[in-house]
Amino acid sequence: MNLNQNIFILTGAGISRESGIKTFREKDGLWDEHKIEDVCTIDAFIKNPSYVHKFYNERRKKLKNPKIKPNPAHFNLAKLEKIWEGDFLLVTQNIDDLHEKAGSKNILHMHGTLDKYYCMKCFKFGELKFDLSSSHKCKYCDSIGSTRVDVVWFGEQPKYLPQIYSFLEKTDLFISIGTSNNVYPAAGFIDYILQFNQNVNLIEFNIEKTNKSNLFTDSFIGPASKTVERFVEKITIK
Ligand code: NAD
Ligand code: ZN
Repeated sequence: MNLNQNIFILTGAGISRESGIKTFREKDGLWDEHKIEDVCTIDAFIKNPSYVHKFYNERRKKLKNPKIKPNPAHFNLAKLEKIWEGDFLLVTQNIDDLHEKAGSKNILHMHGTLDKYYCMKCFKFGELKFDLSSSHKCKYCDSIGSTRVDVVWFGEQPKYLPQIYSFLEKTDLFISIGTSNNVYPAAGFIDYILQFNQNVNLIEFNIEKTNKSNLFTDSFIGPASKTVERFVEKITIK
């Protein structure tokens, strides 16, 4: 491995687990005690907007809790970005802001973030520094109840796909951290890279083996805070 390769890092809910944010599919299949289908689809939002607004307002408030901090996995990725000489892209499926808080710069939130909203009428975006509700009036077009959190729900197109696929085409080193790699399109990234570069180095970090582990050159099993730290330290010492 050398620092002037092009590196693509994909992170999922597992990297934020040790910071106190629950993953999507904890054993009970719920997301923080909510049924996924009640909070992650446009149908759920149409049926009960107040419930969905409340869920994301609570998640956003939780991020403001000083106890929720980036962990060594987030910090080490920011450190890696600083010393990296080739092209570097961090793509996260997470909607939290822990990578930014740790200092990551070149990052795309392919599933959106908790701190932005958009209007379904005029398609303008805004910073979310307040609670969203069905009575919220869009500051751009004045319609009421048309704003929603800028998070990608099931059945919706993830963001930044052109940039992501164009980077995948030149990727030499692909690193996956804390993601089950079951959710498409991210689940298809490896197959996509392999069409362009059969010598790509594929490295996985997860707390347990995943059903995609056999696709990787190396799988580091354990909590990301420890395994990612060890990995970055090894590279930096060289
Ligand atoms: P997922 O919940 O499907 O998978 C999480 C993965 O992390 C699992 O494979 C698990 O084994 C692994 N993991 C758990 N703890 C770990 C640890 N300490 N170290 C290393 N690995 C660990 O999550 P996903 O693949 O990101 O997929 C889905 C969706 O969940 C995303 O769309 C995202 O928007 C949403 N989500 C985001 C957050 C967040 O922003 N933090 C939290 C929950 C869900
Ligand atoms: Zn509007």
